[in-house]
Parts: sequence; structure tokens; C-alpha cells
Amino acid sequence: MNPTLSSPPPRIVVLGSLNMDIVLRVPHAPAAGETLQGHSIAHIPGGKGGNQAVGCARQGARVDLVGCVGDDAHGRALCDALAADGVDTTAVRAVAGTPTGTAMVMVDDAAQNRIVVIAGANAQVEIDVSALAGRLAGAAFLVTQFETPLAQVGAALQAARRSACKVLLNPSPMQPVDEAWWPLIDTLVVNEIEARMLSGLPADTPTEAALAGQALRARGVARVAVTLGARGAVAVDADGARHHAAPVVQAVDTTAAGDTFLGALAVALGSGGNSFDAAVSLGIRAAALCVTQPGAQPSIPQRDAVLRSPPTAPWTVL
Ligand code: ADP
Repeated sequence: MNPTLSSPPPRIVVLGSLNMDIVLRVPHAPAAGETLQGHSIAHIPGGKGGNQAVGCARQGARVDLVGCVGDDAHGRALCDALAADGVDTTAVRAVAGTPTGTAMVMVDDAAQNRIVVIAGANAQVEIDVSALAGRLAGAAFLVTQFETPLAQVGAALQAARRSACKVLLNPSPMQPVDEAWWPLIDTLVVNEIEARMLSGLPADTPTEAALAGQALRARGVARVAVTLGARGAVAVDADGARHHAAPVVQAVDTTAAGDTFLGALAVALGSGGNSFDAAVSLGIRAAALCVTQPGAQPSIPQRDAVLRSPPTAPWTVL
């Protein structure tokens, strides 16, 4: 059964990064000193904060995004793209004198990626605590990641606690989590690498991911979803652990798969009345569609397409 969307839809506040992905298609990676004719260039909206905001919005949530861009053409293009998805960008600050975050992605004919990220304005994110509290009041979730300064992430988690707003944390790119933050997290979404680094336990198989997830729950998190790429995800909560297999699809580009999973999960949980397993299985269906399309935000599916996709296989209790 498809998870329900509440009426009105849940409101989700996303704190995070915005990047313009500049994707260069090249025959091969140039060697030092080599000048190469590439095949093509594309400018694609990305960054984990922007991707997760779009992931939530395309599943029907009302989304406020808190972040920073440069006062430049890339920043304006990112905000325009988010606004076209209905994301409220009034809390996205344009910072003068700093470029918009940029990811330079080189994809060669063998589909190997080489990526350089410049944080740019993402490093300038500063929370206005009282304005954030106003947005968090009545919101279903604060969603955040680690592509903006950690001190600001910590301040936002504390603000969410004071506003009785649940926190969904995606600690990516992996950095150690402050011990004091664990009890502030309602739902943790980690991939196998993050699960291993944070728990100190292997997390490559569903059984290992379940144990790693339990170890993270023991620190005070209510629910953990461990994503396992083409093998789907493991849901860990007070009732134990379940493995949800991913549908078999022709994957062309996994960029934003984790962000798409997270967006669908957040909206299903934020709607209330849906189980953690129903939310994980929606995330898996959304992410399976995402990996069949290239790029970050353009590959995130709309709710209708996800609901039309085949239901996932029954989960396995671990
Ligand atoms: P991240 O990109 O954050 O490392 P994963 O690679 O674990 O995250 O992918 C997130 C989710 O995307 C997975 O849980 C799965 O549902 C889906 N996914 C990723 N790769 C594939 C694939 N090849 N086929 C089907 N689903 C996939």
C-alpha cells in the first residue's frame, strides 16, 4: 500500500548546501599538461541541501530551505530552479564576494567520475536562531547534512529541540558526530560507509548494517536507515531491523540517489500515520527511479511517478 500524504502536507525545513554541478563529458581524464577537447558541458542544480529540499518538495511537502549562495548567476539559477519546485528560498542568503558552491564533475567515456567541490558560499552559512525557530515551529522535520559548517548544524539541532521539531540527520560527507547530538536526532540516514565510520562496525551486508544501526540507536537515535546502494536499505528501530531490497533497474547515474531516498522517507514520516517500513519502501522506489536518470536535481522523481512504480518486495526481518 502506498504511504499517505497528510492534508495539509507536512512542512519540512532543510538546512544545507547548494551547488551548481558543472558536468564535463570527456573522452578520458586529461593528464598533467594535456589539453583535451571535451564532448559537452552541462550546468545542473545540485548540493545535498538543494537535492534533499527538491526530494521532499517533489513528494508533496512544503519545504523551507536555509542556506547560502554567492551573489552571482549560478546562485540565482539555483534559487530559480528551487522556486520552480515550490521550495521557499526566502532563507537562502546571497553572499557578496564569495562564489556559489560548485562541483566540477568530469565523466569519462568509461563512466568514471572525477569530482572537485568548492564549498564557496556554503561555508558562509550562519543560522539566525530566532528566524529559524519561527520556521521550525509546527514543522514536521528539520533535515540537515554536513556540507555546511558543523557549528551551524549543531546550533540548528539545538533550535529544533527547543521548538519540539524532529531532526532527520544525514551525516554526509562523513565527519564525526558530536556526542551531545545523538539524543537530538530522531531519524538518522547513513550509507554503508557512514554507518561503518560512525559505529566502528562493518555495514556492507544487511545483517552487518542491522548491527551497525543498532549500535547507533543505542546512542540515543530513535530510528536509523542504512542505505546499501543496489542492495536497498535496512530499517532499524525499537522493533528490530528489516532489510528492504531495491528493485532491479538499469542504473545510469547514482547522483542524488541517497538524497531522493531521504526526501521520500522524510515526507512519509512527516505525514504521520505511515510506518517506518512504509517510508523506507517509498524511499527505495523513489531512489530506484532516480538512478535511471543522469544528474542531481533533474533525476529526482515526482510523487506520481513514484506511486506508479511497482511496489517493493516484502522486507526481510533480520
Ligand atoms: P549514497 O548515494 O548516499 O551513498 P546509496 O548508494 O546507498 O546512497 O543509495 C541510496 C539508495 O538509492 C539505496 O538505498 C537504493 O534504494 C537506491 N539505489 C542506489 N543504487 C541503486 C541501484 N543500482 N539500483 C537500485 N537502487 C539503487
